[in-house]
Amino acid sequence: MADAAVFVGVDAGATFIRPGLLRGGSFVLGEPVDSKAALGANAYVHQIKAAVDGLLAREGVDDSVVSGFCVAVPGPVSFDGRVSLPNVVGVGDFDMRHVLRAAFGSRVFLINDADASALGAAEHINVRRLRVNHGGVLTVTLGTGVGGGFVLPGKELALLSGYEGVACELGHMKVVDEPFKCGCGATGCLETVASGNGIVRVAKARLKEALLSTLPEAFGGLSGLAAASRTSPHKVAEAVFSAASGGDPLATRVLRSASFGGFLPREKLRDGALRDDVISYEAAKAAFHGRRCWLLALGQVDGEDVSAAYRRGRLSASDVRGRVDGIGFTSFDVDRLAVDGDGLCQDVLFFAASVLGGALADVAGVLNPEVIAVTGGLTDLRYREFFRTVEESFQRRVFSPAARVHWVKLRPHEHVGVSGAVRYAQLKVAKK
Ligand SMILES: [Zn+2]
Repeated sequence: MADAAVFVGVDAGATFIRPGLLRGGSFVLGEPVDSKAALGANAYVHQIKAAVDGLLAREGVDDSVVSGFCVAVPGPVSFDGRVSLPNVVGVGDFDMRHVLRAAFGSRVFLINDADASALGAAEHINVRRLRVNHGGVLTVTLGTGVGGGFVLPGKELALLSGYEGVACELGHMKVVDEPFKCGCGATGCLETVASGNGIVRVAKARLKEALLSTLPEAFGGLSGLAAASRTSPHKVAEAVFSAASGGDPLATRVLRSASFGGFLPREKLRDGALRDDVISYEAAKAAFHGRRCWLLALGQVDGEDVSAAYRRGRLSASDVRGRVDGIGFTSFDVDRLAVDGDGLCQDVLFFAASVLGGALADVAGVLNPEVIAVTGGLTDLRYREFFRTVEESFQRRVFSPAARVHWVKLRPHEHVGVSGAVRYAQLKVAKK
């Protein structure tokens, strides 16, 4: 391939579309444009074309000299060019290759954005001259959802795509022991807790559990429960079992996570058994963190907090659920509060990181990667314990011969999705 060849890649996200191009071996990033996806598939493709045209005009490159275009989309891409984009509201499923060919001609290729990020990450790591890419690079993309890709061992960059093109869809591994419903229709998927949306979902669930639980009142309130959990854990554990059998949401979840074991601090476990002191400690902590969570300040009722209003009978249980659902916050609010010391927000991030580390350990046992690259918006999380917990949880669970892994974090400003799409266009054209 002549070095002067030009390749164009586009990261076509749900909100923004970002193009880039490779010319004479150097990569140039374009300006992002609004995806306008809410207006439908035609508007979305129109914006992709507009983003590319804008970049080509800016760089003085004529469309006719481009050897290949590649568009990376946030969802599965089938071999016949159909895409399924449930996270791109307004677009959904359609024959995207057909529509793109009308806009770009036959030199256009499609790729899943997590696969593009995997290629971009593998390339980035090579460029940084880390001693890698003989044992393969597993990339996990933490954004609105969770994506994944595996670049096979060897000098040439090659993706593991699978029979239907959905290999390494890490986000839909069933690894969560809680009944959270995923966008794919199943429950228990990794992305229901370890993504931007997942972190918000878990925080809301924890708030509701704590607000609706009657457990603290059985001990005269939060401080009574805290004291009893230290002095008579057996009594508290008994109350937890009894509350759970009556449908108390907090008690039910505490027993479920205690029996799953892996999400509790190791020192709290003895032979994986359910210990009274573990149960009572977890219940008191969950109740305290939930009712004292700073997020609740966003959902006050006439200056009174939701918990107090519920106790006084001013709100019903369904009012409380609705009130919590109505609190507007993002995973970065949870992150900010965790950094500032909010217990519930810290617990939510600890839980997400533990589940993620455990899931990556299982994948590593199958693929034995040399590098695990973490990309996506959540790499900007500031709460340090998050990535430390991912690695600790990984090490605790991984099949030990696969434990030696280099961890690389690639932040959003590295734009590996765009550079990976460019790289894919180059690989596809070289193969033709
Ligand atoms: Zn799923």
